[in-house]
Parts: sequence; C-alpha cells; structure tokens
Amino acid sequence: VSSWGNVPAGPPDPILGVTEKFKADTSPKKINLGVGAYRDENGKPYVLPSVQKAEKLLYEAKGDKEYLPITGLAPFTKLAAELAYGKESIPLKEGRLAITQSISGTGALRIGTAFLARFYPGAKAIYLPSPTWGNHIPIAKDSGLEVKQYKYFDKDTVGLDFEGMKQDIESAPEGSIILLHACAHNPTGIDPTEAQWKELSDLFKKKKHFPFFDMAYQGFASGDILKDAFAVRYFVEQGHQLLLCQSFAKNLGLYGERVGAISFVCESPEEKSRVDSQLKIIIRPMYSNPPIHGARLVSAILGSPELYEEWLVEVKGMAERIISMRTKLYNKLVELNTPGEWGHIKSQIGMFSFTGLKPEQVDKLAEKAHIYLTRDGRISMAGLNSGNVEYFAESVSKAVK
Ligand code: PLP
Repeated sequence: VSSWGNVPAGPPDPILGVTEKFKADTSPKKINLGVGAYRDENGKPYVLPSVQKAEKLLYEAKGDKEYLPITGLAPFTKLAAELAYGKESIPLKEGRLAITQSISGTGALRIGTAFLARFYPGAKAIYLPSPTWGNHIPIAKDSGLEVKQYKYFDKDTVGLDFEGMKQDIESAPEGSIILLHACAHNPTGIDPTEAQWKELSDLFKKKKHFPFFDMAYQGFASGDILKDAFAVRYFVEQGHQLLLCQSFAKNLGLYGERVGAISFVCESPEEKSRVDSQLKIIIRPMYSNPPIHGARLVSAILGSPELYEEWLVEVKGMAERIISMRTKLYNKLVELNTPGEWGHIKSQIGMFSFTGLKPEQVDKLAEKAHIYLTRDGRISMAGLNSGNVEYFAESVSKAVK
C-alpha cells in the first residue's frame, strides 16, 4: 500500500486555477484577467528597463554566489527601509528599526505572523479585512494565529464600508493585531482616504491595537511612491509600533525573484537588537537565508541616483497605463448602456478592480467570451490593453444584460 493512500485531494488555488483554464483555451480572443502581474500594451510580461540595466551592471561586476546573512543583503534592507519610511524617518535615524530581507511579500507575511505568534504579548489572533488577499488567511493560520475579520467592502456602493470597518475595529478587544493593506487594497482596489487613515490611527491609539501593514504595491498604486506610503508614514509619525511587509514583485516587476522585506518599529536600539536576534532564530530553520540576485537588483536601482530616477518614471508609467485602462473601460461600458453603475472602475486603485460581476456572469464570460477572472468578480486591470479593452467591455455588457 502507498504511504499516501490517505491523502485527500485538495481544492486548486482559486487564483492560479484561473491561469490553468486560460492556458487550456485555444481561442485567439482569450484574455486572462486573473493573475496579479503587470502586462504591457501588447499583453506581454514587462521587464523594466531599469532592471535590465541593473542586470547588466551585476553581470559585469561578476559577483560571487555566496550565501547571504540570515537577514539578507544589508544595502538592500537599508534602501528598502528608506523607500518605505523615508530617509528622514525617526525610527530609522535612531537605529530602532529591525528589518530583514524576505521571500517577497508572502515570505514577509509568513515571518511577521510567525513572530507575532511567538512573541505578541496580547491575543494571538489577527483581524483581516473582509475581503482580503486570499493568501492572508492560510499564511496567518499556518503561523498559528487565529483569523478574525473586520468589515471593509460595501456591496451596495461598491466602496469602502468605513463605518462598518471602524465599528469592528472599535469592538475588537484592546490590543488586537489588525492587518491593513497600506495601499491598493487587494482584491477591492478601494483604499481609505488620507482623512480616514488619520481617523484610523486615532482609533488604533485609543484601542491600543497593533497595526500590521502589508504594502505590496508602493508606487504601483498611484504612480507616486510617497503618496502610496502615506498611511505607513503617518502611523509611524503618530508613534505606532507597527510592523511592515514590503514586496518588490509589482513595483519593480521582480515577481519570480522573490524579493521583499519585513520591518518592526522598535522602542530603542537595544530592543531592535533583541528583535533582530529572534528574527534570525525564526528564519534560520525556515530557509536559512534569502536569495541574492533580486536583492542585488533592487540595491543597484534604489542605490543609484540615475537608475532610481529612471525607475520612478517606469513605475509611474505602469500605474498610468492601468489608470488609462480604467477610463477606457468605464467609457465603453457607459457607451454600451451597460446596466448598473460603473463609476467604481475609475475610482478604484491599483492592479485590481472589483467589478461587482456575479459568479454566474464570470462563468458566462469564460464560456462565451474566453475571458478568465476569479469568481469574486475581481479583474486584473493590467490584463487589459488597447487591443482587448473594447472586446472586454462588450462581453461584460452582454453578460450582465
Ligand atoms: N500582499 C498582497 C495584498 C498581495 O496582493 C500580494 C501579491 O499579490 C502579496 C502580498 C505578496 O506577493 P509576493 O509574495 O509575490 O510579493
């Protein structure tokens, strides 16, 4: 008998499963709006020119392939922290920010939740927005945290349920761990306004909650790295002891390089060094040390004034192409007298739009129009381009009529 005779078949990943179906479709019209990766105007993956230049520099430098330290490449973590918090950030200047390289954003979340499960002095539970990025739930559970939810999305307005969100945060027990998407909320594309972030900061203070920020889209959301870092920087200024997960998958297009970071704002340099020591103890048995190449690429770009400027233009270009698709899609849906209100397509932020399409309508799009998206109605705006946005709008129009 096989050792694995009792292994039950698990369900396929809801997001990666969409790509499988897309690949199996042979129609030339097919569109994949499932995957959260940027595509250029021709629907192709995009390697940023700044990254190509950095690749050339690294090749010419003929660096070795030795192991990195457990917490990663030091120039990288320094530059990552400066990008998120700002060079003038007080915790950075005072040497009380503990930071480690991670296996992209997912790895950052995994380390962060494991650290909280081991050391958080309050309840070992985490509140996630409803809905949230699907992977947040198993990441938190696998790290040993109990998963709870707070209201976030208002189906009726296809907008933020700010009152519901505040109520749930208010009624969570004092000192709760609460996950916040720093910008470009996935899957809804709906973020609090700056005024609402300020209210949230006050509420967190009042309730002594712990803010756990996930920032997977800095720069990619609005095209402006400062604007997208507003919430994180404001919370830090307000004295919150937060934890921050960063990913360079989207904003530098380094998906498969798996480069990210996780940082903890500490009270003192002495506390920071204790946190550092425990981060190493958590990471060592997980994967020993992180991959080197992506971290070198990010360091080469963020560390060079010319490449940094070039990257800022490129990240803005990606964000603006997505924003222009929002306008085109909205205009076409309205032109076709598509039943329903579609303003949210334009007002949502970042890679995704929560269209409000029902699961049956999503199925119809796949069957009739060769268009693939997750059954929650989320579309990756990056999958649209001038060549397919009209066809997509026409197909949506038919699916809802
Ligand atoms: N967090 C959110 C909200 C995301 O949307 C993603 C990617 O889709 C991630 C984290 C992590 O992605 P990665 O592990 O590729 O950096």
